[in-house]
Amino acid sequence: ISNLQSYLTAYQNRKYSIGFVPTMGALHKGHAELIKKSNNDNHKTIVSIFVNEKQFNSKDDFNSYPRNKGQDYDFCSENEVDILFEPSVEEIYENDETIIKNINFKNILCDKYRKGHFDGVITVLNKLFTIIKSNKVYFGEKDFQQLKIIEKFIEEKYKFLNLVSVPTKRNEEGIAYSSRNEKLSKKQIQDFISFHQQTENFLNSLEKSLDIETANQKAKDFIVKQDIEKLDYFEFRNNYDLSFNGTLSDSRLFYAIYKGKVRLIDNLKV
Ligand code: AMP
Repeated sequence: ISNLQSYLTAYQNRKYSIGFVPTMGALHKGHAELIKKSNNDNHKTIVSIFVNEKQFNSKDDFNSYPRNKGQDYDFCSENEVDILFEPSVEEIYENDETIIKNINFKNILCDKYRKGHFDGVITVLNKLFTIIKSNKVYFGEKDFQQLKIIEKFIEEKYKFLNLVSVPTKRNEEGIAYSSRNEKLSKKQIQDFISFHQQTENFLNSLEKSLDIETANQKAKDFIVKQDIEKLDYFEFRNNYDLSFNGTLSDSRLFYAIYKGKVRLIDNLKV
């Protein structure tokens, strides 16, 4: 941290604007989009890599989360990151392990199925925002509920910080880049791609004027016919407040499914 602080002070003295991209590593083209945007917007870009145990509700999931530091270092230099901040657990939590409780968008989507996950997310961000006083911070729409929760958190606690959201980067077949994809076998990836494409077809078959409640009945009919090992949710929700109010034109389809032990989430604009 002290090493980082000396860079930050030098940047501040030169009046450089700073963009911050928090990640858990195993960097991929989705992260690259955030970095690109930050490089465009700011003089300097800082990426953090911290696999935050407090946001994992299963020890197994934490232990098996993909990590590949060597490649991440190369990735950051190829993508013109100015500072890669990789704190230790002690640096983040040594003095204070108090968990901040998230109070927004509770008991729905990922919050319902990963108890305490978002408490862990905002707790670590609170630490990181205190250490790295950036002008802007970048998050992906891939984790849409997370984005909404962080938006509220920043509004309440870090008013000086500008949150920039970045659309989901997808591969040619349409699936979102994700660190967790690395854990999938070739067959699982193929199955996932085919699931994704059928979901897209389903979406395209719906009228945008349909109300969300009715669309969710159709979503149920669609999803039971799919060969899914395990499903947490597959439902439309309003873009703005994540409720079931409104029509498809201002909604997204949110899903969390499993392939083997790997949990995959995505959300698709209608
Ligand atoms: P993670 O390392 O998974 O915690 O992700 C770090 C940041 O990258 C989060 O803001 C994510 O929403 C974002 N992100 C992850 N995958 C993608 C993607 N495919 N497209 C855009 N942003 C992404």
